[in-house]
Amino acid sequence: MLSTSTKQMADSGLRERFHRRSLEHQRPLSTVTMAFTVVAFLCFVGARNFVGGPALPLPYRLLCALVLGLLVLAIPRAATTFVFGAIGVAYSLVLAVGLALNVSGVDQPLLWALPAVVVIPICAAPLWLTPTHFLVGSALFYATALALLFGGPSTHDVSVVTWMWIVAIGMPTSVVFHFGFYWFRRNHFLLESQLAQLAATDPLTGLQNRRAFVKQAERRLEAMTPDARVSAIFLDIDSFKSLNDRFGHAVGDHALHQIAQALMEQTTAEESVSRIGGEEFAVLLRDGLPGALALAERLRGAIAALERPDGSLTASFGVAEHRSGESIMMLLDRADEALLRAKHLGRNRVCAERALPGEALQFASDAAHAAGGAAPPRLKWEDYYLTSHFQPLYSLSHQKQVGFEALLRGEQADGTLVPPAVLFAPNPGNDEGALDRASHAVHLGNAHRSLPPGAWLFLNILPATFIAEGYADQLATIVRTVGLEPERVILEILESHGGSVDEMSRAAALYREHGFLIAVDDFGAGQSNLDRLFRIRPDLVKLDGELIRATSPGTEQPILPKLVSLLHQAGMLVVVEGVETTEELILAVASNVDFAQGYLLGRPAAEMAPPESVRRRIDDAFDVIAQGRAHQHALFESEVEPYRLALSRAADELIAGVVMDEAFAFLATFERCVSCFILDDSGRQVGSEVPGPAWSSDAASLHPVANPRDARWDHRPYFRNAVLLPGVPVASNPYLSLASGRPCIAVTLAVQLAKERSVVGVELDWSSVGLPWPASD
Ligand code: GH3
Ligand code: MG
Ligand code: MG
Repeated sequence: MLSTSTKQMADSGLRERFHRRSLEHQRPLSTVTMAFTVVAFLCFVGARNFVGGPALPLPYRLLCALVLGLLVLAIPRAATTFVFGAIGVAYSLVLAVGLALNVSGVDQPLLWALPAVVVIPICAAPLWLTPTHFLVGSALFYATALALLFGGPSTHDVSVVTWMWIVAIGMPTSVVFHFGFYWFRRNHFLLESQLAQLAATDPLTGLQNRRAFVKQAERRLEAMTPDARVSAIFLDIDSFKSLNDRFGHAVGDHALHQIAQALMEQTTAEESVSRIGGEEFAVLLRDGLPGALALAERLRGAIAALERPDGSLTASFGVAEHRSGESIMMLLDRADEALLRAKHLGRNRVCAERALPGEALQFASDAAHAAGGAAPPRLKWEDYYLTSHFQPLYSLSHQKQVGFEALLRGEQADGTLVPPAVLFAPNPGNDEGALDRASHAVHLGNAHRSLPPGAWLFLNILPATFIAEGYADQLATIVRTVGLEPERVILEILESHGGSVDEMSRAAALYREHGFLIAVDDFGAGQSNLDRLFRIRPDLVKLDGELIRATSPGTEQPILPKLVSLLHQAGMLVVVEGVETTEELILAVASNVDFAQGYLLGRPAAEMAPPESVRRRIDDAFDVIAQGRAHQHALFESEVEPYRLALSRAADELIAGVVMDEAFAFLATFERCVSCFILDDSGRQVGSEVPGPAWSSDAASLHPVANPRDARWDHRPYFRNAVLLPGVPVASNPYLSLASGRPCIAVTLAVQLAKERSVVGVELDWSSVGLPWPASD
């Protein structure tokens, strides 16, 4: 192990690290030892006063002590081994000078200096960081000391003995001490490095392991300047388990090794690559999202070029860019989320992180502050951009624009549209929610530019997003950031799974507190039913396109008017979508719909279009309806006139005492006559009804309620209207007959029969196509 270490030591980088590590270790020891030596020097300076002979002035020697003290203080601040060595050399020289000055004038100067000249180099030997420092420092120390101490030729025996002390004991001992400690320190360092290396490396692939990767990444993030960009790539080998299961773990291990090699080849030393777990790898690089995506794509290609026994190895990639203040684990989590998406989208692909509310808010805010007139802002989303189109909504009664529905569009960089099937492709997990939230930021960022004063902005929202914890607050913040008020935003809850009615009604209250208006979209389709409607209590209901065109079977009469009337009674305004033809517009106006939207009134467009000829169009529809109503009324009246006459005749006969069968005989011959009947003052049938040609008891599908004699009918409009106008035959609006299960109308007449107020009437089958219906009320 150590032989390889020795080779490694030839590497200058490693030697540099060794010396730096030595510096860390030696610094406190050197400081203490050198400080101690300064104190010892001062003791000798003091001792000199008790010895005879001409002494040099004290300040010279104290100056030396001061310089030594300053050099001691410089030791903790020495940033490099060179500075450390230079301080050591300077210290040695000053000490040698100080010693010589102190003993100047004594009888036996060499004897005085002997212990210092022998002991100091020995004590200092282990403290020198490198052999060079040691050799230079020691040589200069001896040279200076000896030059000063042996100014003249030596005559004393003691001088010779002292020389021997220095040469035979001082020098060899300091050499042994220095190189012995140096060797010991070096081996310790190499061992420590190897252990650290082992603890940081994945043994199978030789890559950094998770712990080392995280530690290194944390250091990098800490050292990051505010404008620096860092991204993470997270990858997971596809269908790796099957490789193990089918071909054995050795093949799996080999594949891991190959992939690690490929990753190393494709990355630079700047980019840390790690095996994070079983068959998961991570790369951290100093670059933004686009650069990271490009690298991930290269890595994907390199891995896909590797073979496995049943095809080729592939991996899925998730990429995220670091956000300020975020920890490495948060960054990896976001890359992992993108990786999960890459897996679900079919593997062997790269997916980028998706925008989060913070980013959405930033986008909306940037868009709000961007100079007007520029191209509409777009939000980067995967490989394309999100932007908004707006479709106008009109109030039919006011004949004016009341707002715009924001619709999400995906565009390539060059502006070509991404097909909705791609944009809204069903994705697992919370992807849909992320797209939904991002769409709100995009729409709000766009809408503030041109939403006319006072107009509403309609935003579609998924039930799951609608009920998401805290989203009401977030959305309100974004709305205010772009300079709008929640009161101008109508949230259209989409018809979709996600969220119980309870959760939605609770969430609706939170949005209302902020001032948002609530609409239920696509009422009548899928999940959307009356219960949901009455629990959420939306301000507006948008009707599913199919409902607008829906008609009663048989009569082909539209059901829209009744539906609108029901919703109005429940306190909700009604919007119809998908108005494409003049007939549909007329139907919407005739049905009392409040707001309408559709190609006939305005197509979705990037800019909010001012109303053009739409007002005229709606006005025309009103005219058509006004004329049609009069015409329809006339047609209906002429159709029921014969029945009125025949009923009056039957009533006269009944008053004159003719029995029912005879009195109704003529009326009962009319083709549409279901039955003729008499009701008493409380609406109960008197005697048996007289059936007509349209009577068909077999055809009645509502058997349990088919017999009119079981019921009372004074709550029906045809009873009440007759009683209000005694003596006048009145025709009812069509209703569903319980007797026949078909649409019918009744012609009724209130008369006095045997002193008691009664209502005589005839029920007419009104189910054939082409019969005139009374104009809606
Ligand atoms: P997916 O495409 O969804 O990622 O499927 P997968 O089969 O790759 O994923 P899964 O997480 O089910 O399987 C990972 C397998 O990796 C399971 C485990 O046995 C294997 N594995 C983990 N570490 C090693 C290893 O060091 N060597 C070998 N040979 N296999 C390993
Ligand atoms: Mg896995
Ligand atoms: Mg896998």
